[in-house]
Amino acid sequence: MRGAATVISDYLGLEVLSLKNVCRHHRCVSCCYETEMLLLKDDVRRIMSLGFKEGFFIVESRGFKKLRNSNGRCVFHDGWQCTIYPNRPLGCRLYPVIFDENLNHSVMDRLCPFRAEFPLSFKARRESSKLYLKLIDERATKKRLEDSQQ
Ligand code: SF4
Repeated sequence: MRGAATVISDYLGLEVLSLKNVCRHHRCVSCCYETEMLLLKDDVRRIMSLGFKEGFFIVESRGFKKLRNSNGRCVFHDGWQCTIYPNRPLGCRLYPVIFDENLNHSVMDRLCPFRAEFPLSFKARRESSKLYLKLIDERATKKRLEDSQQ
């Protein structure tokens, strides 16, 4: 039977999931500490469907929703691993590929100590750019809605 992670990976057309073996191999969880990961509406919906309340895992930042930290790490990290791994946000799936606003294209996050072991594939770059544009679009839509209600 195929796991949920595989199904979501197929749906997103990503090969990034399997590359997370790099993290496991090095037992590296640095990206889950003091996380700044932004959340799409789909991420929020998916995580809430697991039974988590918004206030538990979301903080607002510059009009975005992002993962909350507790004790210096993402609320979903138990000190050993991600407790929602098959349902983690899209940004976590793509990491260490991130969209650099200054360069206006996707790059490997220099904060990842093992970034050299991840290929910066065309597909990952494209998905990262799409994620960025969607985040910007969702924030603009939310702002318009809030302005219209004032
Ligand atoms: S959701 Fe999981 S992978 Fe993403 S930052 Fe939190 S613990 Fe890490």
